[in-house]
Amino acid sequence: MIILDGKIASSAIKESLKKEVGAIINNNKRPPHLAAILVGNNGASETYVASKVKQCAEIGFQSTLIRLEADVAEDILLLKIEALNNDSTVDGILVQLPLPKHINAQKVIESIDPAKDVDGFHPSSAGKLVQGLPTFIPATPYGIMLMLDHFNIETKGKHAVVVGRSNIVGRPMSILLSSNIEHGNCTVTICHSHTHNLKEMCLQADILVAALGKPEFVKEDMVKQGAVVIDVGITRVEDATAKKGFRIKGDVAYDEVAPKTSAITPVPGGVGLMTIAGLLKNTLQAYYQRQQ
Ligand code: NAP
Repeated sequence: MIILDGKIASSAIKESLKKEVGAIINNNKRPPHLAAILVGNNGASETYVASKVKQCAEIGFQSTLIRLEADVAEDILLLKIEALNNDSTVDGILVQLPLPKHINAQKVIESIDPAKDVDGFHPSSAGKLVQGLPTFIPATPYGIMLMLDHFNIETKGKHAVVVGRSNIVGRPMSILLSSNIEHGNCTVTICHSHTHNLKEMCLQADILVAALGKPEFVKEDMVKQGAVVIDVGITRVEDATAKKGFRIKGDVAYDEVAPKTSAITPVPGGVGLMTIAGLLKNTLQAYYQRQQ
């Protein structure tokens, strides 16, 4: 069994990005610039954004973090995005989700210039993905594809089962795995909360992607011997014995499932790290496209 270690794969990607940024700077050009907007102070979102900013610095990207109060008016947020859209020194814009309930997240996503949509959530990016056109791939599915590539996981002709159909993970993942691309060409089944016989579906998977947000939902008896298991789930589960008062749990019961698999991602230390690698690659892509 191979542990699909996100630290190993993301470090390799970041190292190559760092070299590319070094070459850009040696050419007397400005580095790529990612702008992140964080609304409110949700603990998990704070952690994700801090990590994105830190990793930008590690590879030589410029980053700007814009913090807005939790009760900020939607119009103010939209004006900030418009300013970033018009700022020629900004290559990529991300608005950390989830947003407070009074803000229409879809409207916010659609207000980002598709040329700077490094999260790949804009309908224009999603439409291009469906049609197999070059675009920004949402960072988590992109990170998973980079992980499959790094560890040379064969996917062609395999049956992939994706549990979850969100616009940010499950649906784009299902599209990528079924596309005629490297690490695609799977036959894909996509499952959701209305799927009957979920266990039987999962048992058919050569590649199982769990992206439902239910800690340790996927048990040993739901996984075929030798399957590749990709655990996207990240849930904070209260635990008084943990330093921070919680532990991060994936959607897969790792200890019982891992021995049955041929390869599996750990949580933490798996897909989460690859998501940031995907975001950084998208930002570099946005930079190059905007230089042309
Ligand atoms: P989401 O928007 O809540 O979507 C969850 C999906 O799972 C929905 O399609 C839902 O079905 C389906 N689902 C829920 N319960 C189910 C059940 N019992 N059986 C079958 N399907 C079920 O979540 P998300 O944003 O995609 O995120 C999923 C998980 O990934 C979360 O834990 C999130 O924190 C994590 N995540 C991790 C990363 C990373 O970098 N590792 C990035 C993004 C998200 P319906 O559509 O029918 O409701």
